[in-house]
Amino acid sequence: MDRRPAVLPLPLPQMTTAIRNEIKNLYEALDAQLQSLDLTCRACGDCCDLNRYGHELWLSNLELAYLLDSLKPVSHSMDGVCPYQLEGKCTARIGRAVGCRVFHCDLDAASMESITETYLEEMKKIATAHGLDIEYGELESSLSRYIAQPG
Ligand code: SF4
Ligand code: SF4
Repeated sequence: MDRRPAVLPLPLPQMTTAIRNEIKNLYEALDAQLQSLDLTCRACGDCCDLNRYGHELWLSNLELAYLLDSLKPVSHSMDGVCPYQLEGKCTARIGRAVGCRVFHCDLDAASMESITETYLEEMKKIATAHGLDIEYGELESSLSRYIAQPG
């Protein structure tokens, strides 16, 4: 069986002002819902050391386009750490994907799944309204195709 993680295709959907604003509004609603859960993140960065933590993050092509539009990853050690993590901190908090926002080590899996499904449905509606297809891929492998090359 092919166990290579799914990688989102090139090119990604174009990030128009309208799509950007709709995703921004969606993320603001999601962040407000998560804040109401009153979970405290110690910002230890462990969960973004994906391989070591055993954390598999997936995202849609629309989320990836928004993430890259906010900030391009600049380095990638290919050791299973998210390329946006720098000295244990996320450098892409504004653009990070639904799965990144929802995951919390103290939140139960059922709650995370339910919140994630709700917001991915909304993401799908944004895509459909703009005539786009939704595809999903694994975060780190998909990002590895967009690392800025030195020189
Ligand atoms: S969610 Fe948990 S593991 Fe992840 S950075 Fe916050 S405290 Fe650390
Ligand atoms: S984008 Fe940020 S929150 Fe998401 S895995 Fe990477 S470092 Fe962690």
